[in-house]
Amino acid sequence: MRNTSIGLDVAGLLERVGGVLDPRGIITDAEAIAPWLDDWRGRWHGAAAAILAPRSTDEVAAIVKAAAATRVALVPQGGNTSMVGGATPPPDGSAVILSLRRMNRVRHLDPEAGLAVAEAGVILADLQAAAEAVDRRFPLTLGARGSATIGGLVSTNAGGTQVLRWGTMRGLVAGVEAVMADGSIHDGTTALKKDNRGYSLDQLLIGAEGTLGIVTAATLRLAPAIRQRAVAWAAVATPADGLRLLRRFEGESDMVESFELLPAESLAAVLAHIPGTRAPLTGAHPWHVLIEAVSGRLDGTAPTEMVEGVLASAAADEIIADATIAASEAQGAAFWRIRDSISESERALGPAVQHDISVPVSAMPTFMIDAAKACEARFRGTHASGFGHLGDGNVHFHVRAPAGVDPARWYAEDAPDISRFVHDLVTGAGGSISAEHGIGQMKREELARLASPARMMALRAIKQALDPLNILNPGKLVALAPARPGQ
Ligand SMILES: Cc1cc2nc3c(=O)[nH]c(=O)nc-3n(C[C@H](O)[C@H](O)[C@H](O)COP(=O)(O)OP(=O)(O)OC[C@H]3O[C@@H](n4cnc5c(N)ncnc54)[C@H](O)[C@@H]3O)c2cc1C
Repeated sequence: MRNTSIGLDVAGLLERVGGVLDPRGIITDAEAIAPWLDDWRGRWHGAAAAILAPRSTDEVAAIVKAAAATRVALVPQGGNTSMVGGATPPPDGSAVILSLRRMNRVRHLDPEAGLAVAEAGVILADLQAAAEAVDRRFPLTLGARGSATIGGLVSTNAGGTQVLRWGTMRGLVAGVEAVMADGSIHDGTTALKKDNRGYSLDQLLIGAEGTLGIVTAATLRLAPAIRQRAVAWAAVATPADGLRLLRRFEGESDMVESFELLPAESLAAVLAHIPGTRAPLTGAHPWHVLIEAVSGRLDGTAPTEMVEGVLASAAADEIIADATIAASEAQGAAFWRIRDSISESERALGPAVQHDISVPVSAMPTFMIDAAKACEARFRGTHASGFGHLGDGNVHFHVRAPAGVDPARWYAEDAPDISRFVHDLVTGAGGSISAEHGIGQMKREELARLASPARMMALRAIKQALDPLNILNPGKLVALAPARPGQ
């Protein structure tokens, strides 16, 4: 049966791929599809008549060719943990989901070279475990590591909590294998150290949010395994003191990988709503910092020794009010659990609008305080605060609704104004409205409103050139008019 109501040939697409995919590769059962139609935050709801789940790069290429022939759009999906509705199909049913989750092989691990080739559907936690098994480590990590996939991490240029030392995916990806919009295959997995054949297709695909090609595998850089680790929790009076503490650590050692700032209210939310969590310090403190320092060696200065020294000097200079170093791996994990549970615990506090923003690192302490005050003054009854990756100049800036509002009305009417206000402040400070989550569908219009003409011209031209039929995740990141059937 042809899907005439939307003028698109989903049935034709399924017919073409039917001879290529195994029965598990074509899912049309509505109940099996349903969990993949909404985003992680439950803010975006899509419709799709099918999920296609290939097992190989050749199968992906066959799907893309069939999609081009039938003009049916594909929404690539990994773990579906996008924070910006990036992997949610459009609500009109005009696309099918292309799930990469069955392509979940670590093809190759080379501990000597420090490289791993992982397929797009490999879950981050599984890659981390595979690297550990050969005494190496994949250093990028984030709260969604149990679900997020390599393809999604590449396609969003994910950051996480170790960016301070290891950078984002852009720095950790040595090469990408991808199927382009015409079904051709780009193979960059040989990971050449030097390659100047013009534009880097690998780098274009990183952070492209599935709009330029389907990532099928990536070569990833591994780091030395951790031999020693120190996890510490410190209390500071202000974000500015937090930054002074970070600078002190940076002056002392390159072992610091994570430096996360959180206000007292984020800690309180976790303690109230996440069972089994305990405050690392006694007493009330307005701001908290979680620090992790690691070493890949057993000799030389131990991270604990370095952290102790810096915290002692910071205490003597009244940069910190109190601090503790985890006495065991389990206690360190308990500190991290607090940090990783902030988003989940805040859901219990009622409606809120989240902003994943960055400004220059040195400007962040002042920005956090001033932006919160400005927001609360402009939108009466709201409460604004930021937490996150202070060392990267990236915080998650959340604005909570006034008590007693109707959530649906507030999200529809007030939240967009609040986001525009926050994004104007960020843009005025020379920052970015998306530090690590991407643009997806949530921020597409804001990007078009605030980005420079040069950036928008380039984004649109690249999308138009590499996906002229607009079949790869249309409507995400940058809008192009869809190609009409027969074009
Ligand atoms: C609790 C939690 C914590 C998080 N913390 C962080 C954090 O600290 N830092 C951070 O950067 N992000 C964070 N995120 C966001 C999210 O985990 C990342 O964006 C992650 O990279 C998404 O991976 P995924 O496999 O779930 O991708 P999906 O959500 O399935 O897709 C994300 C985007 O990539 C595209 N895509 C997916 N796979 C492919 C592919 N193979 N080829 C082409 N395009 C593809 C999708 O179309 C979509 O646009 C967090 C999310 C959650 C839920």
